[in-house]
Amino acid sequence: MTAQSFSHDTLVLLCNNISDAVVVVDQDNRVSLFNAAAEAVFYTPADKILGRKLNRCAPLKSLVPLFEQAYTGGGYTTEVTLPSDILFRARFIVAPDKGCVAVFQPARSPDDTRVELANMIADIVHDLKSPISSTKGFIELIEAAGSLSDRQATFAQRAQSSLEYMLSLVHELLDMAWLESGASLDISHVDLNDLVRHTASQFEDYARRQGVEFELVLPPDGCQVEADDRRLLGVIGNLVSNAIKYSPDGGIVRMSVSVKDHAVTCSIADQGLGISQDYLPHIFERFYRVHTPETRRIEGSGLGLAIVEAVIKKHGGSVFVDSTPGEGSVFGFSLQLSSSN
Ligand code: ADP
Repeated sequence: MTAQSFSHDTLVLLCNNISDAVVVVDQDNRVSLFNAAAEAVFYTPADKILGRKLNRCAPLKSLVPLFEQAYTGGGYTTEVTLPSDILFRARFIVAPDKGCVAVFQPARSPDDTRVELANMIADIVHDLKSPISSTKGFIELIEAAGSLSDRQATFAQRAQSSLEYMLSLVHELLDMAWLESGASLDISHVDLNDLVRHTASQFEDYARRQGVEFELVLPPDGCQVEADDRRLLGVIGNLVSNAIKYSPDGGIVRMSVSVKDHAVTCSIADQGLGISQDYLPHIFERFYRVHTPETRRIEGSGLGLAIVEAVIKKHGGSVFVDSTPGEGSVFGFSLQLSSSN
């Protein structure tokens, strides 16, 4: 099929279904085609542009010298920043005695931009980590340095909880940025029992303050998996921290590891609030939080479980949840058992 056999309407239809922005001007410098992607890039509907001289269309004024250069030089490719503030690779093709076609493609793919943004967030959040940690350390020192009045101790404890919450947000944002950057896992042989024990000692203080006790049910001979231990530790920590956070005073959090049919399952069971069946299908979505009178005062970002699921999927595993309102929840994940077991 030759170009001549396309009607103008067919060309418009075709151009409206491509992601590059296309602007065509005729030999009188009037805009004869302005596709849907161009409307989005120049924030202007086609009917405000079509048939008008290029230099009379305010949103396209910056293109006038570029089209002129194309006419003198016979077409070329350049980079240009358009009103959307995005850098585009622009290609100008001159059709002698007919006009000129300009095609605009983002100079960077959405993936590049996402990675760049993720790295930028990671840098900023990383810078926040040290001052928050050191402030938290100083608050702990105030309590250790001498006796405080009841009011002072209450204020210090509140400051400490807020700083702990900030620190957990910082870790979640760093995890999110890590996932968005597409970085790969640092895989090694890992004993899941060790990670569970480590998490239990890491959260011992928090559990004590919340009046929660731990129970560990682990296979006696260890349980080897191929995993990124740092990321898996983050996953277990997230589930344990939720289990404590949503538990009643006096509740038990049971962390167990079991092996069946070449799969390892790690589950964290609590006797807490539980989650209604209506909310469960959404529980692993980003920023999803259950809003009930009981959860109203509990702080959280809604990012934790989304990170848990993404990290486990990256390991080739799967997550699960089972919950009964008023009785408790079991969250967990399954991974392939390492062949070295
Ligand atoms: P958040 O920071 O809000 O805890 P998560 O992604 O970790 O974010 O959890 C999402 C929502 O799932 C929480 O807001 C909470 O309502 C619910 N949830 C998670 N873990 C538990 C649990 N162990 N018991 C009851 N509800 C939970």
